[in-house]
Amino acid sequence: MADVSIAPPAPPLTPVEFLIPRWFAHGLFEVTPERLEALGIQGLMLDLDNTLAEYYSTDFSPEVSEWLCAVHDVGIKTCVVSNTHRVARLKSLCEPCGVGYVLGVRKPRRKGFRLALAKMGTPPERTAIVGDQIFTDVLGGNRMGLYTILVPPLSHKEFFATRWVSRSLERVLFSYLDRCRRTPPRVPDLRASESDSPVRPENIGP
Ligand SMILES: [Mg+2]
Repeated sequence: MADVSIAPPAPPLTPVEFLIPRWFAHGLFEVTPERLEALGIQGLMLDLDNTLAEYYSTDFSPEVSEWLCAVHDVGIKTCVVSNTHRVARLKSLCEPCGVGYVLGVRKPRRKGFRLALAKMGTPPERTAIVGDQIFTDVLGGNRMGLYTILVPPLSHKEFFATRWVSRSLERVLFSYLDRCRRTPPRVPDLRASESDSPVRPENIGP
């Protein structure tokens, strides 16, 4: 793995900054192993529903399986942190791909993140989380000091509370950020040339 340093320690986050990811990615496959290595990431937490697989899917797509293999090939450890109650589905998705997982996760509570850090054996400052929701993945990851990466949801099919509550609040947040012309803090230089407007509500989904 490349011996590079991640962004220097940041000042404490303001309440709004806890809701802002450090990287707004256009999709999961934009988060390449090479970019993770360049950020010094050694461990990667992954949300499951609508990040790795659609809500009702019982398989990863071939592209997601290939992406997971590529991440593992560069030595980055992975662990799914999902609020799902469907444990059998979680196991059947993760185990064939060699992806770790933890049970009893209730994002944005910190317990599940701590379990995942212990499972991977990586420090928070060298660990990232990829997820599709602000109020679970990003908020929880920022509370833990992880490098937070937001991706658009794979599908509009979601748990009803997610669809009617969380997404509505996300729209309010991004409307506010857009009006304030706020940009996510500490956007890495690595992708600066690829995203001239880091706040992209259109990438957050409906
Ligand atoms: Mg999700």
